[in-house]
Amino acid sequence: MGFVSLGCPKNLVDSEVMMGLLDRGGARLTSRPEDAEILVVNTCSFIDTAKQESVDTILEMARYKTEGRAKRLIVAGCLVERYRDEIRKNIPEVDAVVGTGELESILEAAGIARPAATLSPFTILTTNTEIRSGQESLSGTHKSKGIGFNPYENAPTERGASAPEVTFRPEGDLRERQGRFSREDWQGAAHLLPTYLYSEDTPRLISTGRTSAYIKIAEGCDHPCTFCVIPNLRGKFRSRRFESVVAEAQRLVASGVQEITLIGQDTTCYGEDLGLKDGLATLLDALARIEGLRWLRFLYAYPNRITGKLLETIAKHDNICKYLDVPLQHASPDVLKRMKRGAGADIFLKTVEKVRAAVPGITLRTSFIVGFPGESQTDFETLEQFIAAAKFDWLGVFNYSDEEGSKAHALDSKLPKRTIESRKRRLMKLQQKISRQAKQQWVGRELVILAEGESSETELLWEGRTEFHAPEIDGKVFINDFGDLANLEAGKFYRAQITEAHDYDLVARITSGPL
Ligand code: SF4
Repeated sequence: MGFVSLGCPKNLVDSEVMMGLLDRGGARLTSRPEDAEILVVNTCSFIDTAKQESVDTILEMARYKTEGRAKRLIVAGCLVERYRDEIRKNIPEVDAVVGTGELESILEAAGIARPAATLSPFTILTTNTEIRSGQESLSGTHKSKGIGFNPYENAPTERGASAPEVTFRPEGDLRERQGRFSREDWQGAAHLLPTYLYSEDTPRLISTGRTSAYIKIAEGCDHPCTFCVIPNLRGKFRSRRFESVVAEAQRLVASGVQEITLIGQDTTCYGEDLGLKDGLATLLDALARIEGLRWLRFLYAYPNRITGKLLETIAKHDNICKYLDVPLQHASPDVLKRMKRGAGADIFLKTVEKVRAAVPGITLRTSFIVGFPGESQTDFETLEQFIAAAKFDWLGVFNYSDEEGSKAHALDSKLPKRTIESRKRRLMKLQQKISRQAKQQWVGRELVILAEGESSETELLWEGRTEFHAPEIDGKVFINDFGDLANLEAGKFYRAQITEAHDYDLVARITSGPL
């Protein structure tokens, strides 16, 4: 099988689950699409550019049905949730579609019989295989790499990939009654919302190397953000069982993983549907106690859910990365009100201060949408001044994308593309200056670095990350001096000194290791 995973890390985990299911069914992964008999494209349809990339990739893979050995082309993911019938009607080469809530039907789609439960349904891939991956997502970028491996290779018990029980939050039920999750205006979209959640027993091929892995702790979203179609694509918010997440993390660490990144559309809501108070903080506290777990972090916090207890937990454990990713989307109260997110620059500045006071030295990442309908020059300047005052370590700016099915689609006062683009450029220039000054403070610091491999830019350098860099999203640390070592090993941790700083990237010299 050949697999292309587009979009964000949440989609990547879905790809890993589907690859795990196919692998257990007897399929073997190849990085050469021309050799694959089954080709799967796991699509993203968050914004226009992502949709276009998904369609282009499907068409590119369709060629292998005539030019390669491909017998089946399967399209999975968010594009299917949105344009199920259109894909089948307009791209006849597509043999089957698999929505985000139907991951386990990938086996039927591939024409592979469901294997009977065996003592250990898990296998490990023996060849170096790379899955192709896309780049753009509103939440950041990712690029899959390394050997796909199954962390449950030695799972000792008889388990199947049973469907977990799904519960919802009253907030989600209420929003559903208000039509929040309706997608009747999407031609071809199935009307049933996805409810699937994978469990610790679902096979998964980890594609992010042997050292790092994502764990999806929740799926869907109940927030009413007017620019966003994710709730329509992914369904109501539901958390994975606490014990299931802990068991998955334990298995990953037992198989050699040392960095775990928790993801979900909103990780800070974790456990609300399970009746847990301080669900994410409690989960982090439990996971941080797993021996051998060196770095633990979570992405995508919702600003008004950053509690004192959560910050206390981050500060308390050495192995919880001092890193917080909190997409704020805007800073003007008027724009945030129309986005149905609330708050504004003053409240956000207080949040930033609170976070920095509770966890000294913490790295903050955020992202903004520029050019939301009706964004005035004053709104934009509020955002600009806020960025200058808050001084984030990492910042992403995305152009507003007018998505059919989102509430913002119906708003008046859309901005010309030119204005949106020039506002984005202005913010990125401002952040470049902030980042350049901040990165200078890093020079001379000695930090632990995860060596990731030879640089994609030149073989004279290696690339790595510190705890202050999340996988695939933030700047890079280039290693130009191995110190006393003849070579470095990818996936190992070293101590290193920062010797140079650029706008976003750093340069380091190894001082000792591997740790
Ligand atoms: S919090 Fe808002 S932007 Fe994020 S997934 Fe939920 S609805 Fe979309």
